[in-house]
Parts: sequence; structure tokens; C-alpha cells
Amino acid sequence: MAKILHGAPVIEAMNQNTKRQIAELKEKDIVPTLAIIRVGERAEDIYYENNAEKRCNELGAGHTKIVFNNDVTQEEVEEAIIGFNEDQNIHGILLLRPLPKHLNDDRLRNLISPMKDVDGCTDVSLAGVFAGEKRGFPPCTPHAAMRILNFYGYTPVTNGEKAAIIGRSLVIGRPVSMMLLKDDFTVNICHSKTANLSEVTKDASVLIAAAGQKHLVKEDFVNPNQVVIDVGVNWDEEKQGITGDVDFEKVEPIVEAITPVPGGVGTVTTSILVRHVVEAAIRSLEWEN
Ligand code: NAP
Repeated sequence: MAKILHGAPVIEAMNQNTKRQIAELKEKDIVPTLAIIRVGERAEDIYYENNAEKRCNELGAGHTKIVFNNDVTQEEVEEAIIGFNEDQNIHGILLLRPLPKHLNDDRLRNLISPMKDVDGCTDVSLAGVFAGEKRGFPPCTPHAAMRILNFYGYTPVTNGEKAAIIGRSLVIGRPVSMMLLKDDFTVNICHSKTANLSEVTKDASVLIAAAGQKHLVKEDFVNPNQVVIDVGVNWDEEKQGITGDVDFEKVEPIVEAITPVPGGVGTVTTSILVRHVVEAAIRSLEWEN
């Protein structure tokens, strides 16, 4: 039986600190506020958005959003981002992605002011992650995966242990790989063209699954000493709920530790998001003074 790496205890300590900082900011008439921009009605986006709003409410942060239809123009989304960049009452901007193909993702994400880029999607923020420096904010999901590993005592490592990541996106796979590298792991980044995927993943002490493929990780992908972090958020029509990239029923009896879906990485991600918004509000105050 694996140890279940629940997100709840990870966020408990973090949230207390966040609540205290929000109360202090409110004494200065500042409500740290998140602005969400969503295009279309993807179930995964709505799930993330609802959870982010719920977490803001729980912790006392503000939130607002703009929702566009799928046929929105590039200019309309740009205007929304520019509006939030210029609005002093907005401290963080979350652009839900992937965007529809007709929109220029690179241009839109890089239009977000790096100071308000609380999900670390601009090139400026990502450069900080790749350089191993604190420049802007790291993307929330990789940050959450690392926070879980650290909370449960799996980082730092001492012998350059192996980590395997399934996924090489700029949102999750690549940044989390850089964060693991910074923590002295020996990193193997896998993707859809990786040969003998299960052999590569089986050899690692830590496996991060971020492929967006329901139940891709089966019993032959893992080993008994392994810690499995399931980042996948896949909508399951049958369950009418979310499910991970790991086949939990098959993998949990084998490995040392595993995050559940839901209740694992996603739970921590929204708390990290609100933390970043609060930090952005604090930094904006420091900037003014
Ligand atoms: P993405 O942009 O679609 O990237 C998926 C990556 O996985 C790609 O690099 C792809 O390889 C690789 N891949 C896909 N199928 C594979 C297979 N069968 N074998 C090996 N590699 C495979 O997705 P993403 O934005 O990184 O998101 C990944 C997952 O995380 C999704 O389920 C998403 O919903 C979830 N997510 C979770 C949170 C959270 O808070 N927990 C937040 C955001 C996203 P190629 O590069 O070769 O195509």
C-alpha cells in the first residue's frame, strides 16, 4: 500500500500564512485580486477556474474574470490583457490555456505584465525558472508538484536520484524538469516520441506524469521505491469528474507514494496561485515605495 500524498496538509500551513498576509494588506486597503481570462468552455479550464475562485474566496482574496466565446479575435483578448495590466486593483492575471488555434498564444501570454504573471507563463518568468533564479513567478502547477515533494520529505536529494517526467510542455513538463534539476535530480524528460517509455519511467525514483492522457501510467511504468506525482487533469465523462494520467487502482499497490486525483497536485496548485497573487500585491506596494 502506497503512502497517499494528499494535498490538504501541504496547503494547511501555506494557507495560514496567506490569510495573515491578506489581512495585513486589507489593513492598507489592498485586496489582492486575481483576474481570469478564459476563451471557450473547456471542462478542464472551467474546473481550474472554479477551484481558483473557490480558493480566493476561502482565503479572502478578490477575483474577477472575462469569458470569451471560441471565435473571439486576437485584438479582443489583447485588449482584455492590457486592461488588466493597467488596472491597479488587479495584482495577478491568469490566462487559461491552451487557447484556440486561431489565437497567437506566444503574443498573448507575453503581453501579460511580468509583475502580474502569477502563473509564470511569460518568457520573462520562464527564463527565471530555466536560469534557476527567482525572477517573476514560476508556473503554479510545477511549483505545486515541487512543494508536495518537499513537504513529504522527498527533496532535497543527496545522490542525484533519477526523476522522469512525462510531458515536455512549457506549462508543466519543461519547467518542472528545470526545478527538479535545480534540486539535484538527474532528469529524463519524456514525450510522445520517447522510445520504451515505460522502461525509462520505471528506472526513476520520482515520476511526474503530465501528459494529459487518462491512465497512461500503468503498473509496468513504475517500481516499488518510486514516488509518483500525477499532474494529469482529464475529464472523465463516465465519472462526470476528473481523473489523472496514472491508473491509480493499478499503480497505487506497487509504488512507495502517490498523489491522488482529485485531492493532490490540483489542490496545491490553486493555493500556490493565490500565494503568488498575494506576493504580487506585496511587490507592487514595495515598487510604489
Ligand atoms: P500538453 O501541452 O498537451 O503536453 C502534453 C505532453 O505530454 C507533451 O509533451 C506530449 O508529448 C506528452 N505526451 C502526450 N501523450 C503522451 C504519451 N502517450 N506518451 C508520452 N508522452 C506523451 O499538456 P500540458 O498543458 O503540459 O498538461 C498536461 C496535463 O496536466 C493535462 O492533463 C492538464 O490538464 C494537466 N494540468 C494540470 C494542472 C494541475 O493543477 N494539476 C494544471 C494545468 C494542467 P509531445 O510533446 O511529443 O506531443
